[in-house]
Amino acid sequence: MESQQSHNKLHVVFLPFPTPGHMIPMIDTARLFAMHGVNVTIIATHANASTFQKSIDSDFNSGYSIKTHLIQFPSAQVGLPDGVENMKDGISFEILGKITRAIIMLQNPIEILFQDLQPDCIVTDMSYPWTVEAAAKLGIPRIHYYSSSYFSNCVAHLIMKYRPNDNLVSDTQKFTIPCFPHTIEMTPLQLPDWLHAKNPAAAYFEPMFESEKRSYGTLYNSFHELESDYEKLSNTTMGIKTWSVGPVSAWTNKDGEKKAKRGHIEELGKEEEWLNWLNSKQNESVLYVSFGSLVRFPHAQLVEIAHGLENSGQNFIWVIKKYDKDEDGEGFLQEFEERLKESKKGYIIWNWASQLLILDHPATGGIVTHCGWNSILESVNSGLPMITWPVFAEQFYNEKLLVDVLKIGVPVGAKENNLWININVEKVVRREDIVKAVKILMGSDQESKEMRMRAKKLGDASKRTIEEGGDSYNNLIQLIDELKSLKKSKALGVKAD
Ligand code: UDP
Repeated sequence: MESQQSHNKLHVVFLPFPTPGHMIPMIDTARLFAMHGVNVTIIATHANASTFQKSIDSDFNSGYSIKTHLIQFPSAQVGLPDGVENMKDGISFEILGKITRAIIMLQNPIEILFQDLQPDCIVTDMSYPWTVEAAAKLGIPRIHYYSSSYFSNCVAHLIMKYRPNDNLVSDTQKFTIPCFPHTIEMTPLQLPDWLHAKNPAAAYFEPMFESEKRSYGTLYNSFHELESDYEKLSNTTMGIKTWSVGPVSAWTNKDGEKKAKRGHIEELGKEEEWLNWLNSKQNESVLYVSFGSLVRFPHAQLVEIAHGLENSGQNFIWVIKKYDKDEDGEGFLQEFEERLKESKKGYIIWNWASQLLILDHPATGGIVTHCGWNSILESVNSGLPMITWPVFAEQFYNEKLLVDVLKIGVPVGAKENNLWININVEKVVRREDIVKAVKILMGSDQESKEMRMRAKKLGDASKRTIEEGGDSYNNLIQLIDELKSLKKSKALGVKAD
């Protein structure tokens, strides 16, 4: 009887891509599906699963039908040590290349697994274009999971289509994004390499974007009020269904304990210390400074950030990657940290922070962000304005959304798109520019106050959209219902659209 019931239940398989910025929102989304009655399987390799398994176990123990199906990462075949399975471990081009090769090698075993699991639908990361064909073989929908904004996806598609960046006189000449409802200007320097004319990396990225158009639809970790114009534009540009179901991290991790435990808990530092420090600060007086899970700044840039933050006179929490510490040749950061312990003006968290808890803390008043979409959404949900400091991939597009459209961002003046491990030492952002941006963001003139008001309003909208009856809530329920009808039609032998 029980197995008959679980057989009849909608079974959705999630296939995340191993980098925190893609995995974290997909795992949260998978958990949301399970919380709404879906039988969920997540496919992951051992080290990656260990970053989220506690949450899955806890959901399972609460009665939800959710499990992880482990697969072997081919470490030995590509010459990687055990446990190096995530892009965030790729601290050199060599290691990154090996991780990428190993991920590509997983295609066959995963296709076989799909056959064994016989799901009713697969939700797969944008980085697996081959899953369109895999789903077609099984006669089930492939839902494309895009882990950034509608805005950024529209920019990428429209640049690929119209090539407004080709044939300009220089890399710093401005061009306008075609077909956009707002006037958005960019320079070729702000684009990822693969969008430059005749760049060989296009062969890796273009199929991802092309595969989206052949998918059943795209799931976005976004919400209607945040990007309504671009939700619309994406429907006309890509021509497939979309569902905004975000912000998923706020939805899935509503209570404090869940927030604290979300993703990479093994890397968290001692909680009481930073929490005590934060508790000792006045409301909205602290700037949270984080560049996401991947960015490795050269030492020269860390020095500028340290001086910029110190000179701004603002309280701050700054998350620095651990291996930067080892490279701190003359002990600059160590000295800086000691100085902070005395002045109490700032606090350094090494490697990994409980970001959701920090953003939600009443003492936090703003964030310096690299414009990774998850960090943006998490800040929006906490009602915080941002200093925008894009580094790589689509982050420069997201900056435009924050600064030019939503008007809740102050640009620090980053100019060049570089891979996170290959940041141009010649182009570091200077301390004066950091101070200037901090003063605008945290300042008390009318412009700053209005920006903070807009951020708070969006924070309220973000909280409403995931409540029963909110847009994202309804979209998730509607999608699950649609998938159930598809399953029924398939069982009856009716061909779906
Ligand atoms: N994150 C975190 N603690 C950290 C760094 C990152 O919890 O110290 C989380 C962050 O909350 C977000 C994700 O990791 O959910 C990073 O994704 P994002 O899209 O912001 O940037 P990426 O890491 O992909 O560049």
